[in-house]
Amino acid sequence: MPLIPKSHPRAKSLLIREKLVDGFDRGLVAKEGLLAQGRGEAFDYLLGEKTGKAAKQAIKVAAAQLLQAQKPVISVNGNIAALCPKQIVRLSKQAKAKLEVNLFYANENRKKAIVKTLRNNGAKEILGTNSRFSTRLSGIESARRIVDKNGIFEADVVVVPLEDGDRTMALRNAGKVVITFDLNPLSRTSQTADITIVDNVTRAIDLLIDECKKLSKKNSKSLKKIILDFDNKKNLTENVIQIKNNLTRRARVA
Ligand code: ATP
Repeated sequence: MPLIPKSHPRAKSLLIREKLVDGFDRGLVAKEGLLAQGRGEAFDYLLGEKTGKAAKQAIKVAAAQLLQAQKPVISVNGNIAALCPKQIVRLSKQAKAKLEVNLFYANENRKKAIVKTLRNNGAKEILGTNSRFSTRLSGIESARRIVDKNGIFEADVVVVPLEDGDRTMALRNAGKVVITFDLNPLSRTSQTADITIVDNVTRAIDLLIDECKKLSKKNSKSLKKIILDFDNKKNLTENVIQIKNNLTRRARVA
């Protein structure tokens, strides 16, 4: 991996990009995944590259929702496996959620590389790998309609980081509660999910793990209240306002 000096003003962002490129070289990430990262980076810039107040609130609600779930599942794609494999396994343990590999651009070799990465990072059970348990989610055309009978198919809460809008809608139509990480508050996924964490997954995932740990001491009534008090549309608006305020500030100094 090329060395990026810590003093570089965009070091953090470049390191994340390097992880993606490295993931691409290792067969985890699709070409399209690199482009999706680019779209995310642009929104991260506009958000000020930090976890805002609205994102922190969404993280808390997501933790409450995961702890309240009966059958939570985390859907893993190539970008997630390249960016934060250790954390995604830690989150699944902390939230007692299953891991399922689910790819938009289906490819058996890529799937194997993702499974290997998850195993190397401590995952024991990984769903979405055995065709005997494959079934179809209706209302979606892409390869992502194929889900695991013991995973996403029967889940009540599904975490879909860096997702595409069609599948988010299909999951909602199938009665699932959908939690997503998406830097773009305007994307169809952001607008369709129940809980949208508008933040870079590389920053937000540790916060979500910590929040799950913290809220695990709360009773079910308190968790339900956290969930009921949340309005995703309002939260998305707050993220758009954060972008607007950043731009206004920048326009003043420019
Ligand atoms: P939609 O169909 O929901 O409108 P899209 O076509 O814009 O989505 P994709 O190209 O599928 O989206 O990309 C996935 C989304 O993931 C993008 O909205 C992008 O902003 C977001 N994204 C990319 N990288 C990250 C990241 N590191 N953290 C959080 N979100 C990210």
